[in-house]
Amino acid sequence: MTATTPGLVCAHHHLYSALARGMPPPPKTPTTFQEILEQIWWRLDTALDLEMIRWSAMLGALEALESGTTAIIDHHESPNAIEGSLTVIADACAEVGVRVLPAYGITDRHGADGARRGLAENERFIREGGKGLVGIHAAFTCSDESLRNAAHLAADLGVGVHIHVAEGVGDKDAPVRLAGLTRDNWLLSHCVHLPTDHHLHGTILHNPRSNLNNGVGYADPARFSNPVALGTDGIGANMIESFRLAYVMQRTVDVAAGPDTAWSWLETGWDLMPEARNDEVTWSYDPMDPWHLAFTPGVRPLEVKVDGEIVFDDGQPTRVDADEVRARAAEQAVRLHSRL
Ligand SMILES: [Zn+2]
Repeated sequence: MTATTPGLVCAHHHLYSALARGMPPPPKTPTTFQEILEQIWWRLDTALDLEMIRWSAMLGALEALESGTTAIIDHHESPNAIEGSLTVIADACAEVGVRVLPAYGITDRHGADGARRGLAENERFIREGGKGLVGIHAAFTCSDESLRNAAHLAADLGVGVHIHVAEGVGDKDAPVRLAGLTRDNWLLSHCVHLPTDHHLHGTILHNPRSNLNNGVGYADPARFSNPVALGTDGIGANMIESFRLAYVMQRTVDVAAGPDTAWSWLETGWDLMPEARNDEVTWSYDPMDPWHLAFTPGVRPLEVKVDGEIVFDDGQPTRVDADEVRARAAEQAVRLHSRL
């Protein structure tokens, strides 16, 4: 028994984090979300170069296809390899056959020049014809000027902004800092510590596995009037798994909740990347409906078509060699880990 759906959409990913697995532990065990950022992610992103970014994106795109995900909204940061990074990511995804909407997350963490160069990378990529968004890391690592500059650039380019919002308590001022800047085409990731009555515009991106992993709390996205979509925050691109986690996390605060709500969040991905509706995934299970999938383990894609082309068949990608992608990504992971 098989069933087909459109290609799934991962609405918040960090493809660069595919190389983090197995990285050496930080000198001191982080005990807060801020320390997790400082001792893990901000050390890792600083060590990235373009070759590492290329193979992490290839691996992430491969794993997306293996999960029936044909479209990724990526949020990228590599402070020592900014220029050209979005093109490297877009090319890698295109090679595997996965759609991507990248953004460079600007930050003043490395000085105002770092934010300026990040903004320039967003602008270069989009003005050269790339499909992307303008990225901001988060309000708490940006000056008011950088936030305004990013909002203005996005408006000029006619695209939205992809930003982390109130993921941890350290960013709880985000609704004040972003007041008047957000638009409906913005993507607001996490929003765990965002008040229900926040006046921000945009789609809220819910990342249940990541929020659990970082111990930041439950966003309870059902409380918002904004649209809600699902992401992974860099831990693969398995959207059926994200849906299942979103459902059970909602049950922890509302035992009357059914899986339809979390399923509707999965479907919001098609509003953000409508092209994925042209893709077709044939699954190992029938029916692909929320009440079945919430309780059915091991559902996997048998065949994936992107824009009519078969890019995944019988457990293997058709455009690239999965073993080679894994081997090359592993080489880059060794280089990256040796820098940490
Ligand atoms: Zn994120």
